[in-house]
Amino acid sequence: MERFYVTTAIPYANSAPHIGFAMEAIQADALARYHRMIGDDVYFLTGTDEHGMKIADTAVDLGMTAQEHVDMIAKLNMDLKDQLNLSYDDFIRTTSDRHKSGAGKLWMKLLENGDIYKDKYEGFYCSGCEAYVTEKDLVDGNCPIHKKPAHKFSEENYFFRLSKYSKEIEQLIESDKLLILPKSRKKEFLNVLKDGLTDISFSRPKESLKWGIDVPNDPDQTMYVWCDALSNYITALDYEHEGVLFEKYWPADVHVIGKDILRFHAGIWIGMLLSAGLELPKSIYVHGFITSGGHKMSKSLQNVISPVDISEKYGRDSLRYYLLREIPTVDDGDFTVERFEELYNSDLANNLGNLVNRVFSMTNRYFDGVVPRRSAKDENFTVKYSAMWEKYHDAMNQFNLKKAIEEVIDHVDGANKYIEDEKPWSVAKEDQEKLKDILYNLLEMLRHVGNALYPFIPEAAEKILNGLNQKSVSDNFGDAERWGTLNEGTKLGKVDPLFPRIENSN
Ligand SMILES: [Zn+2]
Repeated sequence: MERFYVTTAIPYANSAPHIGFAMEAIQADALARYHRMIGDDVYFLTGTDEHGMKIADTAVDLGMTAQEHVDMIAKLNMDLKDQLNLSYDDFIRTTSDRHKSGAGKLWMKLLENGDIYKDKYEGFYCSGCEAYVTEKDLVDGNCPIHKKPAHKFSEENYFFRLSKYSKEIEQLIESDKLLILPKSRKKEFLNVLKDGLTDISFSRPKESLKWGIDVPNDPDQTMYVWCDALSNYITALDYEHEGVLFEKYWPADVHVIGKDILRFHAGIWIGMLLSAGLELPKSIYVHGFITSGGHKMSKSLQNVISPVDISEKYGRDSLRYYLLREIPTVDDGDFTVERFEELYNSDLANNLGNLVNRVFSMTNRYFDGVVPRRSAKDENFTVKYSAMWEKYHDAMNQFNLKKAIEEVIDHVDGANKYIEDEKPWSVAKEDQEKLKDILYNLLEMLRHVGNALYPFIPEAAEKILNGLNQKSVSDNFGDAERWGTLNEGTKLGKVDPLFPRIENSN
């Protein structure tokens, strides 16, 4: 049994979860479900990044303690488990004791290996970014992102000797030992590495950063975000005691992240692991951003799409389908309610929903809801469907979730076309044997499609498979992908309409 460890980034617990993170969590969930389906031993982690001055300041504005504030935001993130139908195994909070002690252990490892040193930092700082900014990035003295003045100051920091690992990181990425997908992101980061990575500030004095984890060897300093947040991927596995989970699941197979934090993951995180002598993640999958009506979502444009509202109104599968099928897996994409309803009606209601409905009602009408005998003339489908599975697995392994779904939806189209071509309602009047062939083939198509859609729209897939009286998807997957394994005489269950059509809601 192969093991598969997949993570999402941990969103900053300063505001309610946005649709970009919902997409990332759903992408990671689809990978986790896919690997469970094919029989792997999967561990899927998500969580929240809960320290930093912005969080502490927001809490003050809200009249709460910082802990109360992050408890509230963490709860909203945990609610996504049900709202998006996520199948994660663990949720790590960076304010938890298990995390803090694990992060402390990692810090000490880097210190012992001579890669953490104290120095005076002199330069500019943007409170909006919660980060130092270099003078050459400033525009008229302002932070280019926040358009507010960055303040010049100096303070004592601990630094991490990232420069030492720059060459090694470059070679790892170049050779795909650390695989970055898509290739365009790999290239982009290799360009950054050409200039070499510089040492980074790794802590701040307690008076500048109170809400965080104490530096274990110096309680006057607080860990900066790197060791505090990136370490979650191992602290959740009990890195502190190098326990059973750590033994079993580290290194991660995939970190799923957004394009804005690739540098932190492919640079800083890898440098930290190299310094600590730990194994490296095998790959980093990078997705893009979601716009709304062609614009960046913002409160002032009133175009913010709430994943929770969409899921509550249209259902979890429908939201998952849109984010996985309409948004390119590794590029930017757009979300509008108009396009959402259009895709829902065309793909889910008219195509898939209608197919399931037709095939079940014909089987009920002509064969009393019992699977007729297997057709002898199905060579063609054996070939077609094994080709579907091959392309599907390839796409999944290359983190092209959109392509995998499209492959399946093509076969849903194909099944609907098969009905139109064969006209079972006419055949029923003249040729019972041929009718058996047609219905068997259609039911078998539904079984394949139901299995293949499970990682993406698990509820609908399970309804289809339950209706066909099939065991859970992960049971003996090898059989599931073979044409002709649906048994004659299987009694069908009832399937409620999967995706009722949306009449224009605007
Ligand atoms: Zn800024």
